[in-house]
Amino acid sequence: MGKRTAIYPGSYDPLTNGHIDIIERGLDLFDKIIVTALKNPGKTYLFTLEERMAIMEETFKGRENIEIDYFEGLLADYLERKNTFTVVRGLRAISDFEIEFQMALMNRSINDKIETIFLVPSISYSFLSSKLVKEIYKFGGEIKSMVPDIVDKKLKEKYSKK
Ligand code: ADP
Repeated sequence: MGKRTAIYPGSYDPLTNGHIDIIERGLDLFDKIIVTALKNPGKTYLFTLEERMAIMEETFKGRENIEIDYFEGLLADYLERKNTFTVVRGLRAISDFEIEFQMALMNRSINDKIETIFLVPSISYSFLSSKLVKEIYKFGGEIKSMVPDIVDKKLKEKYSKK
């Protein structure tokens, strides 16, 4: 049997311990996870694509079964280029379900080979999102237990420049 690879697409603005939890769980099922950051010119990010990717490169340094990549445009086209059709997504709460369900069916309607696997994080991360991290940080709250150290550092740099 060939190596099983899955693609984990997202914004990762920035990477949180919730994303890491999903990646580690994914690696119990797959030999390799490609974490691919979305480059969407229509969307405003706090971190640039390069910064979002650099954070992930640093966090997963030396992990041969984790690859960091990016994509622009349709996920289905990216999957075709990679010749990999398994997508991993995280499900936190009911609120994630509707949009995730829609996206999974949309991707499959583009290419019937695309299969989406949903993983549920540890309960301690099930209310965590990149958006929440940014908000808490902005108002001076403590985020150390929510993100890898490098994210805490990069947020500090980002906000001290503003
Ligand atoms: P997107 O903008 O596509 O939602 P994110 O970077 O926020 O990108 O998330 C990428 C994926 O990771 C999504 O499937 C999202 O549901 C999941 N995810 C994000 N945070 C968590 C978390 N704390 N626990 C589980 N899954 C999560």
